Amino acid sequence: MVYNFSAGPAVLPREVLQQAADEMLDWHGSGMSVMEMSHRGREYMSIIEAALADVRELFAIPSNYKVLFLQGGAIAENAIIPMNLAALRSPAGKREAGVADYIDTGSWSTKSIKEAARYCRVNVAASSAPQKFAAIPPRAEWKLSSDAAYVHICTNETIDGVEYQFIPDVTADTNGAPLVADMSSHILSREVDVSKYGVIYGGAQKNIGPAGLTLVIVREDLLGHALPFCPSAFDWKIVADNDSMYNTPPTYAIYIAGLVFQWLKRQGGVAAMEQRNIAKANLLYGYLDSTEFYSNRIAHDCRSRMNVPFFLRDESLNDSFLASAKERGLLQLKGHKSVGGMRASIYNAMPIEGVQALVDYLRDFEAKHG
Ligand code: PMP
Repeated sequence: MVYNFSAGPAVLPREVLQQAADEMLDWHGSGMSVMEMSHRGREYMSIIEAALADVRELFAIPSNYKVLFLQGGAIAENAIIPMNLAALRSPAGKREAGVADYIDTGSWSTKSIKEAARYCRVNVAASSAPQKFAAIPPRAEWKLSSDAAYVHICTNETIDGVEYQFIPDVTADTNGAPLVADMSSHILSREVDVSKYGVIYGGAQKNIGPAGLTLVIVREDLLGHALPFCPSAFDWKIVADNDSMYNTPPTYAIYIAGLVFQWLKRQGGVAAMEQRNIAKANLLYGYLDSTEFYSNRIAHDCRSRMNVPFFLRDESLNDSFLASAKERGLLQLKGHKSVGGMRASIYNAMPIEGVQALVDYLRDFEAKHG
């Protein structure tokens, strides 16, 4: 038995992979693999429509939001977002980029800020960089612009292991700017009040499916404001008007995502998954906090339930820790190179047995080397 703690692309439910394998050569008697189908054919239309309906139901997406399937990942969205939203407050008849507010809470928001600055003025309204990203700046300290086109946050920092445990209200300070959230690494892991956001986006390769698919959930009134140079394939209004078929969508990735959505529904949906994710995170953090041999440096009220970075007290043991972990079937525990140490990503598809196996290993390794 192997448990894969990769940060992404990451573990997928075994049942989903098995079903995909069974259907690989002949999908439902069609004589075709899903990869070989026309995206506009009857068979594929039934696949994409079911995936859309299921994700809407699972994430309780209100009817005034569009769900778009795009490509390019969250990094492409870092440019696509300002291209679609930075002109929101332009005077009538003009399409000019204004100012966008960004909250800097880790590696991924820092990347978003750098990219957005190529397209609009960026105000970094708060940053936890001076705290080495070990906490999220309290909402009361954010210096938002009164004329912000939007406010961008990354609700789960995959590399640093910090997660918002609150939804910031930004409307009063900004005169109603929409909140835009990169949820790449925790989407569908917890219940979210989608109506509090203008845009939610993320790459699929953690909690949704294979890399190559980007999910964008956008409130309808935010469509139709793209800057003139925005590529058509990335203009959310054009994509929405064409039901994510303006260009050929990543058909196979959407099919797998659809199977993951069905699996999630069988697990009891997002609310049930959230309870499991809380139990998994408590188990792992509980052990890390109980010993001096390991440490996690993140403030307790913003620790990520999905990505758990940790350090060995004696870092000279890192290589042997990883080698013995691999022998026990505990894979991809190495921390991101910018942070060092270890990182366990415990997404939806990681069962609690996997986290228990990791905790057992942490205890055994400590007993041997502590
Ligand atoms: N944002 C977050 C929070 C991420 O975890 C990642 C990927 N690890 C990205 C953005 C970048 O995603 P992609 O490589 O799919 O563009």
